[in-house]
Amino acid sequence: MIGKCMHCNREMPAAKSCSRDNRNIFSNGWIYSRALKKNGKGRCPDCGIELRRGNVHHWGCKFEICPICKEPMHSCHCDAFLLNYIPERD
Ligand SMILES: [Zn+2]
Ligand SMILES: [Zn+2]
Ligand SMILES: [Zn+2]
Repeated sequence: MIGKCMHCNREMPAAKSCSRDNRNIFSNGWIYSRALKKNGKGRCPDCGIELRRGNVHHWGCKFEICPICKEPMHSCHCDAFLLNYIPERD
């Protein structure tokens, strides 16, 4: 993806991670963390974040796995939304 992430306002693919304030999503009364659980290699081919533990894909990334259903987040049907959506500036 190219452009600014609507949730962290950072440039994709330059930013190393989406804001960690955006890591929690809420669905059906439960809170799930979107933060990566382990280190990967390099950067996400879609949103450009560094694949390191604790980082968060930008919203809408094709490679993010939904923490609820384990399907690709952008095509899954979980009714989830961001908790603590607070825009911030770098
Ligand atoms: Zn972002
Ligand atoms: Zn990504
Ligand atoms: Zn899902």
